[in-house]
Amino acid sequence: MSSISTNSSYDAIVVGAGFAGIYMLYQLKQQGLHARVIEAGDGVGGTWFWNRYPGARCDIPSMEYSYQFSDELQQQWQWSEKYATQAELLRYANHVVERFDLADDIQLNTRVLATHFQDRTQSWQIQLDDDTTLHARFVVMATGCLSVPNVPNIKGLDDFCGPTYHTGQWPHEGVDFTGKSVGVIGTGSSAIQSIPLIAEQARSLTIFQRTPNYSIPAHNAPLDEEYVRSVKENYAEFRADNWQRGFGANFRDNDTSALAVTDEQRLAEYEDRWARGGLAFLAAFNDLVFDDDANETARTFIQGKIAGLVNDPELAQKLTPNTPVGCKRLCVDTDYYETFNQSHVELIDLQQDPLQEVNAQGLATRNKQYNVDCLVLATGFDAMTGAISNIDVRGENGTTLTEKWAEGPKTYLGLATAGFPNLFLVTGPGSPSVLSNMLPSIEHHVEWIAQCIEHMTTHQLTRIDAQTTAQETWVDHVNEVASATIYPNCNSWYLGANVEGKKRVFMPYLGVPPYLEKCREVVANGYQGFSLT
Ligand code: FAD
Ligand code: NAP
Repeated sequence: MSSISTNSSYDAIVVGAGFAGIYMLYQLKQQGLHARVIEAGDGVGGTWFWNRYPGARCDIPSMEYSYQFSDELQQQWQWSEKYATQAELLRYANHVVERFDLADDIQLNTRVLATHFQDRTQSWQIQLDDDTTLHARFVVMATGCLSVPNVPNIKGLDDFCGPTYHTGQWPHEGVDFTGKSVGVIGTGSSAIQSIPLIAEQARSLTIFQRTPNYSIPAHNAPLDEEYVRSVKENYAEFRADNWQRGFGANFRDNDTSALAVTDEQRLAEYEDRWARGGLAFLAAFNDLVFDDDANETARTFIQGKIAGLVNDPELAQKLTPNTPVGCKRLCVDTDYYETFNQSHVELIDLQQDPLQEVNAQGLATRNKQYNVDCLVLATGFDAMTGAISNIDVRGENGTTLTEKWAEGPKTYLGLATAGFPNLFLVTGPGSPSVLSNMLPSIEHHVEWIAQCIEHMTTHQLTRIDAQTTAQETWVDHVNEVASATIYPNCNSWYLGANVEGKKRVFMPYLGVPPYLEKCREVVANGYQGFSLT
């Protein structure tokens, strides 16, 4: 990747070189624009560059969790497993950069500290952590929804004598837990993927659980050649069909209420989904995320499965959530619940015995000291707003984004925020983002932004800004949709509830098809809700 350019003026600066930043650069270059990506890490791939913990892999099938903008790419790339590993996804990101000759315009090891809109020039001034200042007409925040690790505010965390690893900042050389006693804090997706593999190595493994999660078996396997061939033969139709589905993925959405079928039919549907595995479980019926009684049927089913998988009934009870299924992001696992049957694996229920502190030797709950050699923080991310809030973003008249978003993020379509002209967000709050298959959602946003910039160039327009009224209407709509679901009913990161002091607001938008329609309509009506000058 290139070092600093001598020309500090750009058409566009893209922040972040994950899947979003990579594709944004490709699109901007296609238009012949002078663009540059600034990436804090020393490699591309974003999520798949940082999250190298044991067992890290996607939980949307690889054939869908991949770019579709280039048919050659999707035809030629061979995924090896149903759910690709982190290493394979990282190879893929690097392959795309190489294949489309993007490396020279990606600057690694550099963090964007600030970006200020210059009212006089109607452009952005971007401050990097190497003391360089760049200027650009447009800034695109491709900073990721899950890219800022959440390090919990636990007393004494710095006093621990052994190594501490956050799953979202895992050492590149890997970690060998052989013969070690290991403590893991957290039981979200990252923990659920890594715990079975850490258990294979560790002498003892102690898991500190604040809230249990629902997890569906992955049934991961090498990809079936016949299946790959059938998808590749009709890849465009396959992708188009997925766009019609609520989560933008092939979840085989069942358009029936869980309450409109007999007990036997419902059980058969759940058993089938459990046997096939994965997130498609949540699409078993059309009202699981809307109706608490419907959701209760799914909850009861999974609770029965946990009871069947965990030998000790008391332990099974501790591992069983009492929240609606899907309210916290559903997890997908390989042998997660079974791992707790091993004698060297222990679960500490922090609801019964709260964590008091970390100290030099390990962790102390109210009732007991647990000595460990190493500590794994599987404690998640400051999701959706964390990375943008870390940048000093100032819009028109010097207004800071932090001020504007004090009561929670406010965007128009998750693509732009009023008062910050010529600044775009990829999968920002207020878009389906984390409630969808994120790679297609990223592609959709990047293409929308690229077309908007092209439109502006063609029509010699220099400035685009979201209108406050359109934004308010959209934010109200996002909240209205969320309030008709089960999502506000637990403390999830969707609501920012995992980060101390964060405003509790439901951030993503539920519903890929209506969202796509709205975005199309906005463009068809001359960028309705935006002011273009
Ligand atoms: P990221 O990949 O997060 O990239 C953002 C980049 O921006 C990072 O590299 C970061 O270093 C950089 N950056 C941020 N701030 C700055 C700054 N100030 N200056 C410079 N650089 C900066 N989604 C799915 O749909 N399916 C899955 O199976 C799935 N699995 C996941 C597994 C894990 C472990 C995690 C954490 C997330 C997963 N996701 C999944 C969500 C995933 O984040 C997205 O699918 C996607 O990879 C996001 O790409 P992105 O480019 O938008 O952001
Ligand atoms: P997460 O879902 O937010 O889980 C964090 C865990 O840490 C939770 O169990 C949380 O408990 C716990 N925790 C946080 N602070 C704590 C504290 N102070 N004391 C005790 N426990 C604490 O984070 P994640 O597992 O990294 O996953 C984040 C998201 O990334 C996922 O939801 C998913 O979207 C994506 N992801 C996907 C995959 C995949 O399978 N492809 C894998 C990993 C991540 P509480 O619940 O009580 O807050």
